[in-house]
Amino acid sequence: MKYTRNKVMKLAKDMCKAKYKTCAVCGAEGKLDCHHILGERFSPFQFLVLLCPSHHKFGVESFHGNPIWASEWIKDNMPLDWHIINNFKYKKKKWNYEKEYTKLMKEG
Ligand SMILES: [Zn+2]
Repeated sequence: MKYTRNKVMKLAKDMCKAKYKTCAVCGAEGKLDCHHILGERFSPFQFLVLLCPSHHKFGVESFHGNPIWASEWIKDNMPLDWHIINNFKYKKKKWNYEKEYTKLMKEG
């Protein structure tokens, strides 16, 4: 198997969907998207949350539309992730996709 960024990203998103199943904020079903809390550029395979369109992009309380609200929501509902994210130091790195894939499979 060839490990690519897209393949690892798909695994991360599949795991996010399997973990939450419904919108993490309101419990809605149907069309849901995985949101990268830290931004895909900074953390492509970690800190994903499953959201309905309203809580992802379009609502007054949404991760894209209202980052202050989103930050509070993460703090209240994902305290462990919130702590890690707040201490996150970005450094540019060359990803080893096989290693990241294996790491995700272990977490699942
Ligand atoms: Zn929602």
